[in-house]
Amino acid sequence: MPAPLRVTLVGGGLGGLAAAAFLLRAGVDVQVYEQSPRLREVGAGIVVAPNMVRLLDALGLHEALEACAVKLDAAWEFRRWEDGRVLSAQPMGETCVRMYGTHCYVAHRADLLAMLHGALPPGIAHLGRRCLGVLPQGDDAIAVHWSERDGSEHVTETDAVIGADGIHSVLRPYVEPAIDVRFSGLCAFRGLVPAEDAPAFARRAVQTLWLGPGRHFVHYPISSGRLVNLVGIVPAGDWRDESWLAEGTVDDLRAEYAGWDARVLQLIDGVRSTQRWAMYDRSPLPRWSRGRVALLGDAAHAMLPFFAQGAAQALEDAAVLAACLRGVGRDGVAEALARYDAIRRPRASEVQLMSRGREVQNHLPDGPAQAARDETLASAEPLRQSAWLYGHDALAACS
Ligand SMILES: Cc1cc2nc3c(=O)[nH]c(=O)nc-3n(C[C@H](O)[C@H](O)[C@H](O)COP(=O)(O)OP(=O)(O)OC[C@H]3O[C@@H](n4cnc5c(N)ncnc54)[C@H](O)[C@@H]3O)c2cc1C
Repeated sequence: MPAPLRVTLVGGGLGGLAAAAFLLRAGVDVQVYEQSPRLREVGAGIVVAPNMVRLLDALGLHEALEACAVKLDAAWEFRRWEDGRVLSAQPMGETCVRMYGTHCYVAHRADLLAMLHGALPPGIAHLGRRCLGVLPQGDDAIAVHWSERDGSEHVTETDAVIGADGIHSVLRPYVEPAIDVRFSGLCAFRGLVPAEDAPAFARRAVQTLWLGPGRHFVHYPISSGRLVNLVGIVPAGDWRDESWLAEGTVDDLRAEYAGWDARVLQLIDGVRSTQRWAMYDRSPLPRWSRGRVALLGDAAHAMLPFFAQGAAQALEDAAVLAACLRGVGRDGVAEALARYDAIRRPRASEVQLMSRGREVQNHLPDGPAQAARDETLASAEPLRQSAWLYGHDALAACS
């Protein structure tokens, strides 16, 4: 029996951990290097769309998801900023199950990370290891150059390296040095409200998007209903920090929604602290793999969050990567990674491009264009219109 293929995943975010779980199932000897000493609670809420749920199901995590997330069994609502008038209400629950074979969920990123981490056997995910780069080892292997928290540096040989290391990927330059990044002019405030401090309105199993001039506001319950997640997308002013850890102030968040429906302000009043994140738009990359290195998740296709698909696309990457590497020998790595690139890049690039410019519609000033948008929304069926997103079978795409 030849030794199993060795793959090093750089980054233990949702994409990296999911890839580890899929690769293990494909018989690959996988190691995850995550720079953080612990899995951090950054980023707050995530919509777990049906295309992501089905992949978590494939990993045997359906019950774990049910236990930590909130099932969107009521609706997906769009409301008007000033008075809360419902512009559109898409029934979820059984309607979603009928169309896509599963519910849609909303979850805390930390709960999802813990769930995926818990799905890995001990000794696979190594926390506190920062990748510094890769070193070619002739044609047959590659090495990861990495450091530990005490500053010691190490070089470890492997057969393939996957950069699942997020928007500021250190692996991306090895694959594609040039990247087109543009500032969107927007930033996102993110916050959590304990359920006991949130109005009943916001505790419903509903994803609510409030649309108003120049900004919008999103909220839904997470963590089995113990918390309400909120996101405010607003003009960035002079804020340029693209970090999920940067703090904003609750006063600034509140000021952005002055004059909005009292329910929005009441929810903001329950926020204790907020993160503020400047939003940058990245163009699709012309390649995701080069030799024994490939990219996955935000490292490959960071996108504006308007379609709530970043993590879902990372999971699709993870499933396809594992399918491409299943049964491959050391000399077939570059070809398998090129195949993964060819299967995944067109679809993820399309989602990336689709997310671009969405804020123009969401943020229209009151007037004829806004009235026309609201009329369109009234007859919209976002679930049905998103069939190509939510109905996609990532694994079938490999065969
Ligand atoms: C406001 C907002 C809302 C969003 N909402 C949704 C949503 O509702 N649904 C959805 O599907 N997606 C959503 N997303 C997108 C989603 O969060 C991301 O696409 C997803 O988390 C990407 O996962 P990843 O594993 O690729 O990257 P990350 O989660 O960024 O993970 C990368 C990991 O790599 C580690 N790392 C980085 N550099 C190194 C290094 N040199 N060595 C070792 N480790 C390293 C980092 O510490 C990190 O843990 C949203 C994003 C934002 C910002």
